[in-house]
Amino acid sequence: MYQGSCLCGGIQYEYHGEFDEIAICHCSQCRRAQGTPFVTNAPIAADRFVITQGEHLLKSYFSQPLKRRVFCADCGSPIFSQRTDHPEVLRLRLGTVSGDIQGRPGYHIYHDSRANWFTLNDDLPRHAAGKT
Ligand SMILES: [Zn+2]
Ligand SMILES: [Zn+2]
Repeated sequence: MYQGSCLCGGIQYEYHGEFDEIAICHCSQCRRAQGTPFVTNAPIAADRFVITQGEHLLKSYFSQPLKRRVFCADCGSPIFSQRTDHPEVLRLRLGTVSGDIQGRPGYHIYHDSRANWFTLNDDLPRHAAGKT
């Protein structure tokens, strides 16, 4: 079981599963949402994810009609994204997990949208856009 939280600690969560898949996303929306050259997201089963504190602090921003990005209303930490047409999957922002995790990034997506100022030093598969 993993635990995590936002920066201010108002939101606490547990994830009762493994990180079987970790994506590195370079899309411009993720870059803006995170303020970083890319974001590390893990698709997880929504029914294995529990908000244990601070449910009232979860705020959603719809960056696309069917995709909400959920963050802390107090400190702004991005927690996960969720498609309303696939609510059973959350894409957890791995930087909010406390402690060490098992599992490692498996691939890059939206590589064509990457920031030109960050040099990647890995040989993971690079998908120009989304993973098909
Ligand atoms: Zn917070
Ligand atoms: Zn993205």
